Amino acid sequence: MGVDAEHGRVVMARLAVSAVPVLNDNYVWLIADPDTGEAAAVDPSVTEPVLAAVEAAGWRLTQVLNTHWHPDHTGGNAGIKAATGCTITAPAEAGRVSKIDRVVSEGDRVEVAGAEATVWEIPAHTSGHIAYYFEDERMIFVGDTMFAMGCGRLFEGTPEQMYANMLRIGALPEDVRIYCGHEYTLSNARFAAEADPENAAVGERLAQVAQMRERGEITLPTTVAEERATNPFVRAGCVEEFARLRAAKDSFG
Ligand SMILES: [Zn+2]
Repeated sequence: MGVDAEHGRVVMARLAVSAVPVLNDNYVWLIADPDTGEAAAVDPSVTEPVLAAVEAAGWRLTQVLNTHWHPDHTGGNAGIKAATGCTITAPAEAGRVSKIDRVVSEGDRVEVAGAEATVWEIPAHTSGHIAYYFEDERMIFVGDTMFAMGCGRLFEGTPEQMYANMLRIGALPEDVRIYCGHEYTLSNARFAAEADPENAAVGERLAQVAQMRERGEITLPTTVAEERATNPFVRAGCVEEFARLRAAKDSFG
C-alpha cells in the first residue's frame, strides 16, 4: 500500500504477479487476483509451461495480453485459448500471427481481475508495440521496449520513437514496477558499466545482478527509480546520444 502524492489517495496493490521462465530467456508474466484465482498471461511464448504454472497456483486463466507480434510473445496464444477459452487482447499487428478477440490501441482500457490497465503505444521494437500500465497497481508491462538497464532493438522503428518511449516510461512515478519480456539484465549491466563508467549506481547494480544470476534468480521486475539511476538509454541526454548508445549495444551483444 502507498499514497499517491499527486492525487492524495491511498493506493492498494491487490494483484499478484509471477514469472514463468520459458525458452532461452523469455518471461511470461502471470497476473492474478489471489482471492478469486482469476488470472491473465502476458506474452505467452508457449502453451504448456504457462498452463502448468496456472494450474499449480490453483488459478483460472481468463485472459491473454500481448505487447507485440513476435512469435516468442504470442506462440502460446492458440494453445492457451483452446485449453481455457480465454480472451486474447493485443495490438492489431499481432493479427498476422494469432487470432485476436480484442484489438487495442493508445488510451484503451483493459480490465484484469478487477484492476484496470491503460494501453500505451510505444512503437520502435515493432511498429505496433504496446504497453499495459496498471496505474493503481503501480506496474507496467513493457514487452521488449525497455529492459532492466537496457532497451529493445529497433526492428521496426526509429531512435526518435524509442527515445520517446524511454522518456515516457522514465517519467512514471518512481515506485512503478516495470515487467520486461526477457532476462537480459546482466548483459545490459555490463554494457551500462562501459557506457557510464563514472556512475556508482551502475557498478553496484552490476555486482548485484551478477550474484543474482549466479544463484539462478530472476532480476525482474525493475522499477522506474532503478532505471532512472542506472539505465543509460533512459539517462541519455538527447536522441543523438540515445542512437549512439543503441548502435554501440547492437555490436556489444
Ligand atoms: Zn520482440
